[in-house]
Amino acid sequence: MQVGAVAGRRNASPLRSAAEFLIANPRLETRLSYRKQKEAALSNSEFSHVFISEFFPLSLTRRRTAAESPIAVQPVRLQSGSRAVAAPETVCDNDPLTEVPLTGNEVRKTFLKFFEERGHRVVRSSSLVPTNDPTLLFTNAGMNQFKDVFLGLEQRDYNKATTCQKCVRAGGKHNDLENVGFTNRHHTFFEMLGNFSFGDYFKEQAIKYAWELVTAPEWFNIPLEKLYFTVFGGAEIAPRKKLGTDKDAAALWVKVGAPKDRVIAVPGLKENFWAMGDVGPCGPCSEIFYDMGPAASDQGHTDCKFGCECGRYVEIWNLVFMQFNRDANGTLNPLPKPSVDTGAGLERLASALLNLGDPYEWSNYDTDLFRPLMEEAAQLTGLDISDGDEEVSLRIIADHSRAATFLISDGVHPSNEGRGYVLRKIVNRALLNAGKPEASLLSVLPGMVKAVAEHMKDPYPELIEAVQPISAVLRTETERFIRTMKISLGKLSEEIGELQKTEEEWRKSQTGFPVRRVHLPGIVAFKLYDTYGLQRDVLEEASRLRGVEVDWTAFDQALEEQRQRGRASWKGAHKDAANPVYSKLAQTFKTEPDFYFGTSTQDCRIESIVTKAGAVNEIPKGTEAEIVLDRTTIYAESGGQVADTGGFFDKSGALEVAEVRGAYYPVTGLIAHRIIAKEDLRVGDRVSTIADPIRRARDMRNHTATHLMHAALRNILGTHVKQAGSLVAPDHLRFDFSHFAAVDPSEIAEIEQQVNEEILKDLEMRTDIMNIDDALASGALAFFGDKYPEANVRVVTIPDAASPRGFYSKELCGGTHVARLGEIGVFKIVGEQSTAAGVRRIEAISGDRALAEYQRALTTLRSVAGLLNAGEDEVAAAVERQLDATKQLEKQVETLKRKAAGSQADDLLEQVREVKGVKVLAAEVKGFDRESLRQLVDSLRQKLGSGVVVLATADDGKVALITGVTKDLIPKLHAGKIVQELAKMVGGSGGGRPDLAEAGGKDTFAINSTIGRVHAILDRLL
Ligand SMILES: [Zn+2]
Ligand SMILES: [Zn+2]
Repeated sequence: MQVGAVAGRRNASPLRSAAEFLIANPRLETRLSYRKQKEAALSNSEFSHVFISEFFPLSLTRRRTAAESPIAVQPVRLQSGSRAVAAPETVCDNDPLTEVPLTGNEVRKTFLKFFEERGHRVVRSSSLVPTNDPTLLFTNAGMNQFKDVFLGLEQRDYNKATTCQKCVRAGGKHNDLENVGFTNRHHTFFEMLGNFSFGDYFKEQAIKYAWELVTAPEWFNIPLEKLYFTVFGGAEIAPRKKLGTDKDAAALWVKVGAPKDRVIAVPGLKENFWAMGDVGPCGPCSEIFYDMGPAASDQGHTDCKFGCECGRYVEIWNLVFMQFNRDANGTLNPLPKPSVDTGAGLERLASALLNLGDPYEWSNYDTDLFRPLMEEAAQLTGLDISDGDEEVSLRIIADHSRAATFLISDGVHPSNEGRGYVLRKIVNRALLNAGKPEASLLSVLPGMVKAVAEHMKDPYPELIEAVQPISAVLRTETERFIRTMKISLGKLSEEIGELQKTEEEWRKSQTGFPVRRVHLPGIVAFKLYDTYGLQRDVLEEASRLRGVEVDWTAFDQALEEQRQRGRASWKGAHKDAANPVYSKLAQTFKTEPDFYFGTSTQDCRIESIVTKAGAVNEIPKGTEAEIVLDRTTIYAESGGQVADTGGFFDKSGALEVAEVRGAYYPVTGLIAHRIIAKEDLRVGDRVSTIADPIRRARDMRNHTATHLMHAALRNILGTHVKQAGSLVAPDHLRFDFSHFAAVDPSEIAEIEQQVNEEILKDLEMRTDIMNIDDALASGALAFFGDKYPEANVRVVTIPDAASPRGFYSKELCGGTHVARLGEIGVFKIVGEQSTAAGVRRIEAISGDRALAEYQRALTTLRSVAGLLNAGEDEVAAAVERQLDATKQLEKQVETLKRKAAGSQADDLLEQVREVKGVKVLAAEVKGFDRESLRQLVDSLRQKLGSGVVVLATADDGKVALITGVTKDLIPKLHAGKIVQELAKMVGGSGGGRPDLAEAGGKDTFAINSTIGRVHAILDRLL
């Protein structure tokens, strides 16, 4: 395949001057400002070249194949040592940029093709999740999948291979996450090209291959003046064991054609020596460096030499020669079959080849592996790709979207630990850079997944089908982000706003200028972390985006102090004042708890009987007392779990000698049973203890369910969730925990879902006894409110083989638990509320109680559906219809009432009499409530035009009385005064405005006579 000889991009642009370029493409201006730092070091003639390279943005740049090319064009090579830039006048007529870069896909294909043609098996990339390698979080190099082959543990039917390996470096030892976006070469996800020899060829052939692929005109065709070759320069391999310079490699490079002065021996272990571990295969490396040219220097160096770390010299390929096997003593034994492992980062190689055609493109992010994704991200977020800061965000989104897409496609799901946690961090960081936590954010990552899949479908066709499921995962994760970040980021903004105000004022007073640089005190940051669940890395990224510096030293100190406080409160036994009888007994004696192993046991000795009178030797039948046994199966209330109930029985188990109503620890180690004696009892008697097994089974289900829910809360809401209180009873469980917001219905559903999924796994619970330090070190959660002994604490574990921690939940706990999770049956949350500021309470049920609840709810639903004559799914709609209908009817009733009042008004008008020339209507009416009576008075007043209306009615056993006076009569009459007089007669009181007044009364029998008195009263008042 001939790919190096490139068809030229003949672009006969008529534009000639820099100014013309600028006018033709205004975007350049802003993009230029982003590069101003680098350009500052360049001269004017170089400056005009920037316009030219900008004028052909990469997305337009496509290599034409020889077949497409109208004329075969010899590649034009940059001259060694020259500025490699044509004068502006000659640019357009004789374009030197005929070297159109290979696309990322083409670089990948070319590399694999080269080695395939040379007898290598093209092996698919292995998963990002390493199989059977617990030492590795993610696949991070091409050789990972061949580790056992190199170690001689596995045979393959080939001994030469080439791959393009998906890699992730984030979390763990190789953590590049925080650098991504700010540098040209850091990525979370990247592809590593490589060729491998398993005891086949060695140094000489490996160097020959690399040389040919990199320099041959028909392959990558990189000119010699752009290349440097390093070899191992000697170092102490193990204490007092020195290995000399790799002269073989140096000679081999010269032999294939490298100029002597370009082959450089680098001493030390850091750069040019590779080892699989402290013991095992190892050997020297040789690296190929590419010179990006002075424009790529981060520090504006114009003529620095090779070895400078300013970004100009970039390693593009590392050849590892596995030559030795290092034993435990550090001795290097030559491997019988030396091997080769090489790695060339695809993104770096692509950017070197891009730079070859255009010295002003030097970043991996300038290549077509990223640029189209950044443009897509700009579309989705509205960020401006030509703005320096916003471009960083777009780089981050592009990079992280690639990582998230490939990680989820390889089966990693966001979670709070291990790989899932790294994925969550990556997703969070992408979202933080995509904008504010608002609904529009929901479409960003799914949109990016589509773009990544579209862009990478050639080498990874499996991505296209995975777009839907991956988007669904990211959508859920975005929803989660929006939910928790809205509040916690809001708090952060609040804090920053406050600080900005004060700091700004202070600076202004000092300097006369407002400075918007803010330092967030560590204690404030810690509060956001501890109370609002803002994870440290999120806090870091969010602060950066807001131009805030966090005092991490103080933060770490606050974190450590909290740990110390926690440690202190976990240690040390109870020191409550106890009944002296028990304190004395506890000095020599402890009750042995048998309740972890069952609910009944025999032959327990009565050690002590305590009544109101104190310790006694015996009690008669019927006495209430507290009894201490040498051992018992009755669980004593502790750790939130209520006590068992049950009984003491005789040896045969048939005769109940005492009813046990509960049990507790009066002092540590001693269990007192609250009993009512059914027979005479004395110290030294032997009894059997039986705890109510049904009640106990319910307690155990609820207790284990509490542990499951606690873990689910931390997984779903965040690890800031801390237990603040807990009750485990037979009929329900109650769990209080710190959280800053209400747990919304979708979160509740997610918690229920997760807990029930764990129940379905039906795993066996594990209990270990260990000392408290080991327990806490193993990751067990402890509840601050509880005191634990130093030694022999119980650690209850719900295992999870798939988790890197090895467990789903691990808690210090003295309670009783189910043996297998399946015994819980089903788990249901029934209530969520706030109990104090920042403390939420969840109530839940499990097992038979939950089943009963589901049955009850379904029965109710069915009967309601039956009443509504609707299907169960249509109940809500049917009820809504009914409510609508009721409203309609109410309106109709209102109208009818008004009409009825109107017609009754006409009848009543016939009862009008005149008193001293004033029309007076006084009547008792029936079937009116107060409101409609008021309306009736009103309409009668209007109909009278001028006059007084007094109406009374008996409403619900009480008198309602209303008086209306038309406006013209107000100077003479006051409705309130009239009503006051009348009210007395019905045994009540009242009053009101001059035109309208009301009264109530108790004496409904007096209505008639009161109405009869109205005329006389008015006669007096007028
Ligand atoms: Zn430099
Ligand atoms: Zn517990």
